[in-house]
Amino acid sequence: MKNSKNIIPWSVQKNVKLLKVDKTLGCYFWIKNKKYLDFCSQLVNVNLGFQSPNIINAIIKQTKKISFIGPKFENENREKLADVLTNLYPGNMKKVFFSDSGARANEIACIIAKHYTKKNKILARKITSYHGATRYTASFSGDARRQMINASSNNVIFFSDPIINSCPRGKNYPNCNISKPDTIEKILKRNKSIAAIILEPITGSAGRIIPPKGYYESLRKICDKYNVLLIFDEIMTGFGRTGKWFGANHWSAKPDIVTLAKGITGGIMPLGATLISKKIAKFYENEYFPTGLTNYAHPISCAAAIEAIKTYKKGNLIKKSEKLGNLIEKKLNIMKKKFKCIGDVRGKGLFYAIEFIKNKNGERLINWTYKNYFKESTHMKNLFKFLLDNGMFCYGRYNMIYICPPLIIKKSELERGLNLIERGIEINIENKFF
Ligand code: PLP
Repeated sequence: MKNSKNIIPWSVQKNVKLLKVDKTLGCYFWIKNKKYLDFCSQLVNVNLGFQSPNIINAIIKQTKKISFIGPKFENENREKLADVLTNLYPGNMKKVFFSDSGARANEIACIIAKHYTKKNKILARKITSYHGATRYTASFSGDARRQMINASSNNVIFFSDPIINSCPRGKNYPNCNISKPDTIEKILKRNKSIAAIILEPITGSAGRIIPPKGYYESLRKICDKYNVLLIFDEIMTGFGRTGKWFGANHWSAKPDIVTLAKGITGGIMPLGATLISKKIAKFYENEYFPTGLTNYAHPISCAAAIEAIKTYKKGNLIKKSEKLGNLIEKKLNIMKKKFKCIGDVRGKGLFYAIEFIKNKNGERLINWTYKNYFKESTHMKNLFKFLLDNGMFCYGRYNMIYICPPLIIKKSELERGLNLIERGIEINIENKFF
């Protein structure tokens, strides 16, 4: 749209060309009668597809009944949703603070961690993490957006992620220089003022990095030893995205605080949730809870979330995500064998990424640097254009393409999408470099 008065996020305004969507339904959107399969669930939030009918009905019903009520009034939706979530999340979650977004949920998680531990620093992943775009959450986000927002802080310390595929050839993790839990222990030994470690159990924007076996269990032990809280940012990994209800279901280690958003309402209403464990909930029995917001636990968002969770359960969508994930894993490994330009394929459930390389030495098609954040490679651009021209919406970052369709996707639709990606890679990347 020309001369729009809207500011578009993360963009040079004059370069933005917005596509006008006429209709959305299920896994698809339509532009001028052309149908597009959404292979990224928009912002990895429309997990139940567009226009999910039960959620829309729940929203209408709640809007007609009580469209708003402040935090100091009782509301059955808030009560019910907190109850459902604390029971659903593995481990020992006792209470929930509902807010309005992922960033806010993380912001609140860190406020709580500092208040509870009476310490003031946050430990986070360098480069391979994103926790939100507010000034505070960007300060503990490793990715380029921290620098962009000019949010660096002395109260944040970073450590490196264990990226297994960057283990030098001929070596195997842990017998290489890649970051291990001991690195974190060394940091905690030196810095007595660290309140919490925050991490995405499987990274989102950073391309589905899964730590090696035992990593989170070691981290859990280290956190307990140094009285540091473990925060899992499950804003992308929650609600079946990775083939289990939550990322934490893949490991025996459980966090002290968890943050949720995106898929919590099937992406239809804004809602964030910060879950706290029994010991932290007990602390607040006699302590003043030091934050709040106008849109606290919005009753319409809570109604949408209750219905969304019912929909995940009714459709057996978590199991389905796991099953379809096996199909993706198989297909991507076949592609990795076929194409020299594929450096790595990673993920679980309906949450995958493919990384591209440009030579036999395994050099990334684009390096993950601050400068490169702003300039998309022509080859990646061509790949995404090819997919769009062929009726599929998909995106990525740097040298990666993401695969994260809605959980309601059919096997045949998933196969069609993967076959299209295979063709797109061959034409736009493999044939250009090898
Ligand atoms: N945490 C993770 C892992 C995310 O992927 C995002 C957003 O993409 C956020 C936090 C921030 O969530 P929001 O955009 O709702 O503030």
